[in-house]
Parts: sequence; C-alpha cells; structure tokens
Amino acid sequence: MPSHFDFAIIGGGIFGVYAALYLAQHGQRVCLIEKEPALLRKASIVNQARLHSGYHYPRSVATARMSDDNKARFTAEHRDFINAGFDKYYAIDRFGSFTDSQQFERFCNFINIPCEPIKTHPLFNFERIEALFKTTEYSFDPILIANYYRRKLEGESRVTAFLQTAVVEAGTGQNRWEITCRSAGNSAVFHFSADQVINATYAGSNAINRVFGVEDIPLMHEISEMAFLTSPQLTNIGLTVMDGPFGSLMPYGLSGLLSLSSVIYTHHKVSYENLPVFDCQGQKNTCRPDFLSDCNTCLAKPRSNYAKMVAQMRQYFNEEVEFRYFTSFFTIKSKLKANHIDDGRPTEISRLQENPRYYCIFAGKINSIYEIEKAISF
Ligand SMILES: Cc1cc2nc3c(=O)[nH]c(=O)nc-3n(C[C@H](O)[C@H](O)[C@H](O)COP(=O)(O)OP(=O)(O)OC[C@H]3O[C@@H](n4cnc5c(N)ncnc54)[C@H](O)[C@@H]3O)c2cc1C
Repeated sequence: MPSHFDFAIIGGGIFGVYAALYLAQHGQRVCLIEKEPALLRKASIVNQARLHSGYHYPRSVATARMSDDNKARFTAEHRDFINAGFDKYYAIDRFGSFTDSQQFERFCNFINIPCEPIKTHPLFNFERIEALFKTTEYSFDPILIANYYRRKLEGESRVTAFLQTAVVEAGTGQNRWEITCRSAGNSAVFHFSADQVINATYAGSNAINRVFGVEDIPLMHEISEMAFLTSPQLTNIGLTVMDGPFGSLMPYGLSGLLSLSSVIYTHHKVSYENLPVFDCQGQKNTCRPDFLSDCNTCLAKPRSNYAKMVAQMRQYFNEEVEFRYFTSFFTIKSKLKANHIDDGRPTEISRLQENPRYYCIFAGKINSIYEIEKAISF
C-alpha cells in the first residue's frame, strides 16, 4: 500500500465512490475508507429510488431546481438502471396539505416541469384527493447502480479501498493530513498521509468531522424504514401525495417491487443532535453515535410500520387495489437542520478547512453526485 495519497475519502456510499472514481479518472490517487464489509449498503440503496425532477419540493425551489438540473445527465449515464416505463402521479390531499392544487400547478409551471391535471382515473379515490396530476418522474434502480459502481471501482487501479476500516486518529503535518486507521477486529493499525480529505459519510458526517478537528455541520437524524411491496394493479403506477404528512408509493427501479414511505410512519426515531443519538444504540455496543452500525442487521431495529403505511396510502386508491407486503429495509436518514421547515434536501459540499484541505459532502439527492465535479479542486 502506498504511504501517501492525493485524496483520502471516508465513506463508501454513492457519493464517496463517485468522488473516488471521478478523481481517479483525473489522475488522482485515492484511498477510500469504508467501515462496513461492503460498499454502498446504507442510504445509497435504502431510499425511495425517486429520480427527483423537482415535483417533491414545492416549498424549496432551490432543491427543486437542483434536482431538475441533474436529471438529464443522471438519466443518460445510468440509462440501463432507470425505470421510465410507469405513470407517475402527484396528488394533493383534501385535508391538511401545506400546498394546494393551484399552488402546486403554479410551482410546476414556474420551474418548467410538465404537470397535467387528471380529472378521472379508475384506480384513485377522488374523495381523498383534491387534485391529481400526471407528471414526468422516473425511478432509478439503487441495487443495479450499486453493483455498477462496485464493478467500476474494481477496475480502477488508482483507488485503494479498505472495507471494515475506521479512521481512529487524524492530524496535520507539512501541509497534509496524517491519518491512522484500524481494520476489522481491531487487529491491523496502519498510517498514511493525504493532501486532501473528503468526508462522505452522510449520517456519520459529524463523527468524522470531529476526528479531523473541524466544525460540525448542523444535522438531525431519523431511523427510517422503506417498505417494499407488490400490487397487481399498480405495476406501472407511482403516486406521491403532497404536501405534508402524507406518503409515496412507486416502482423501486427495475426490481418489480414498489417502495413505500410515509412522512409519519417511515421515521421511527428522531435525533436532533449533530451526532445521531438513539436509545437503541445501548443495546448493541457496535453501534454508537460516533460509529454507526447497519440498522438492517441490528437486533434492536424498530418493528416494522408497514401495516400503518399501507393503511395510510390505501386511502388514496380505490378498494380493488391490493397490496402484498414483501420486506422492509432500515437506515438513518440525515437532514440539515436548516431544512426542517421548508423540507428542502440540498446537496452541500463544504470546504471546512484549508492547508490541508478538508471537504464534507452532505448529500440530499442521489442525482446530485455531479455537484462533486463543481466543488472539489485538485
Ligand atoms: C429513507 C430515505 C429515502 C430517500 N429517498 C431518496 C430518493 O427517493 N431519491 C434520492 O435521490 N435520494 C433519496 N434519499 C437521499 C439519498 O439516499 C442520500 O442523499 C444518498 O444516498 C447519500 O449518499 P451518501 O453516499 O452520502 O451516503 P450513504 O449511502 O449513507 O454512504 C455513507 C457511507 O459512509 C460509511 N460510513 C459512515 N460512517 C463511517 C465511518 N466512521 N468510517 C467509514 N465509513 C463510514 C457508511 O457505512 C456508508 O457506506 C433518501 C434517503 C433516505 C434515508
């Protein structure tokens, strides 16, 4: 193993892996550190797989625009993993919505995304729906995309990846970072240096910021459940109900499954602290606020809320629509505290230190991986 790299990237989700590949393609030597036994296992696969086009953010025009800006390139570069073969509807609930049908339509026109009002449809329950809009929104297949990036990384000789590895100490010397890591089982400790560091650990962002002695970014965290199911009537239909405590059901890429989320029931536990602190962590000593484990393999993970999610979503469909539950996956969803009110999900890449340089990527949307190319200098 070389003792010096141009970049050290901590976190092997889609943002860390994309950054590693992008930098390697530009001649940079990269060390990628991931704490789990495999790359791309957390939020990068446990998500709704919505290829955001802006519709979801009527209260955050900035997020809506960023989603729409990145959509065309992401679709083109991941063509084999995109499901564009379904009808995607957005509905406004008659009760308790923060956005009404006129506002939603005005917003779509304002950011110039297609939205066609639909007056009748045999599958939907218009007693609960104030307005229904047919939109143009696709889904991506997170599992196929994860496999694609793992394969790309295997062929990239400029990236040295370490799995089941933790950064235990970091300091600066001669204008570069000196980093100490420990591999699985606390056995092997090794050291290397890097000119620049990129923290791409998402829910783990502040834990790594603290190891490197840089400031926290203000975050909050939720233990989140994505439920997966099938429906014989909804094989080529997706529905998102706006705007507030509602839910969403749409094809999970090309898997044949529907992903189901609900603003009320998906999020089981909330932590308003910069590090994700949850009461279940005491039950499994491998998971700590500063060193998160994988909720899916954890015996202390919450009981599934899928039945409540299904009960909530079925109100928007006619009675003949059937739902068959398959499974659920859990992960920690993190948000910038500043977006608690407008529900925005920007991707922010902050330069938190110079000489040596340190970046923290906080990702809001998968199709914003390209923001890395604008923000990282070498
Ligand atoms: C429930 C949910 C639904 C979502 N729905 C969508 C959607 O429909 N569309 C969309 O575009 N986006 C969605 N998102 C957001 C999207 O999933 C995230 O923005 C994106 O996956 C973040 O990618 P990442 O690589 O930064 O994080 P992750 O995929 O979480 O990767 C971070 C990696 O860092 C590793 N790590 C953490 N701490 C350490 C450490 N101390 N040392 C070493 N490694 C560490 C982790 O093990 C992990 O592999 C959703 C997110 C969630 C949680």
